Amino acid sequence: MQIEHVDVLVIGAGPSGSVAAAILRKAGLDVRIVEKMKFPRFVIGESLLPRCMEALDDAGLINAIESKSFQKKYGAKFVKNGAVCDFTFKEQHTTGWTYTWQVQRADFDKTLADATEQMGVKIDYETTVTHIEFNGSDSVTTVVDAKGAEKKIAARFIVDGSGYGRVIPKLFGLDKPSSLLPRKTLFSHIKDLRRSMADEPNRITAVVHQPGTWIWIIPFSTGLTSVGFVGEPSFFEQFDGNPDQRFRAMLESEPHTKERFRDMEFAFEPKTLEAWSASTEKFYGEGFVLTGNVTEFLDPIFSSGVTLATVSSQTAAHLVIKKLKGETVDWEKEYMEPTMQGVNVFRSYVMAWYEGTLDKIFFSKNPNPAIKQQICSVLAGYVWDQSNPFVAQHDTALKRLARTIELTEKINEE
Ligand code: FAD
Repeated sequence: MQIEHVDVLVIGAGPSGSVAAAILRKAGLDVRIVEKMKFPRFVIGESLLPRCMEALDDAGLINAIESKSFQKKYGAKFVKNGAVCDFTFKEQHTTGWTYTWQVQRADFDKTLADATEQMGVKIDYETTVTHIEFNGSDSVTTVVDAKGAEKKIAARFIVDGSGYGRVIPKLFGLDKPSSLLPRKTLFSHIKDLRRSMADEPNRITAVVHQPGTWIWIIPFSTGLTSVGFVGEPSFFEQFDGNPDQRFRAMLESEPHTKERFRDMEFAFEPKTLEAWSASTEKFYGEGFVLTGNVTEFLDPIFSSGVTLATVSSQTAAHLVIKKLKGETVDWEKEYMEPTMQGVNVFRSYVMAWYEGTLDKIFFSKNPNPAIKQQICSVLAGYVWDQSNPFVAQHDTALKRLARTIELTEKINEE
């Protein structure tokens, strides 16, 4: 059987795979990506965070994206019963990027992959990893192409950026159940003819529909807007009919979406996804590192997915370069800990969102501007800035603040 040799094999050509491959290639390594699908392919995850710009920049991929006229995103807005809490990334605690993009991922991911290919990374599309054999840190991976032909790729290191495919965790039994409840979504892209140009389309809107259920509204530069309901599976059971009818009934049941999206055309039949949260025992091993969604994926509420995917890849790629130069890498300290730091800060915010703690903060009567800027930095993806108390004490600061707001508002009412 044919056997090819590379320095690094990257599994998956999502944002995680492209960022890792581009950084590795820039360091002069021979890199190959194997990707199961033919691109462009649909994937959800359309609203980015400013922090991911640093990873895209390091990978040399910003210009390719900048040239695409994607919708610029400057903030995030939360809405509940007509009350609005608006965050603008310019007004944040951490010094960093103040904008990012809202993208149709098929186009975004293909743009990243094409730019990575132009740097000299060969991408084998419609090629699925079926088996990996490690010999120390060297490996031989078996892949199968669309015609069923097998080949082997020998590599000095593997970066697994296979997203929901979770190739190495599945092959080597590293999957771990998520600590979050399983949730479900029904979503589509809607022809948004009644879009307000006043405070949109340059931000994401998250609407609290009812306790535990919310809606994302992500406008694109194409005139389409991505809209999705997210909640526990039981929420979706009250709606009958086909996906189109159920989605229209949901939009009609929420005052914020009712008029805007009534009778609007859907770009595709609404899609369902379910139980996406996943976790992994450890994010590295001899001869491999896991990046992006393969590490841990939490929840869509704060649009953290692509940021955690690209930042983990950025960190991993630099460590792989170090390792292949013969230097020592402390994977636990240099990779697992910072990656978990990002995941854990977002986990606290996701839990606070579903518990209603963040509602109390976002919709409080007199928000403290300095605190709002600190929370804004988390919403921009700057979850490694220990000078921010809402990062450093992410597990306690939100609950404490919500309690203080509750007490103050009670006293003011009396
Ligand atoms: P992916 O983008 O999934 O790419 C992995 C690639 O690996 C795929 O192309 C796949 O085909 C390939 N692959 C899989 N198995 C194999 C195999 N065996 N061999 C070869 N290739 C393989 N994130 C955000 O940042 N913003 C959002 O607004 C957002 N909204 C979301 C809404 C929902 C409902 C959900 C579920 C997620 C959302 N996310 C969002 C998360 C986002 O989808 C992911 O975090 C992001 O796509 C992860 O990127 P990745 O590169 O790790 O994986």
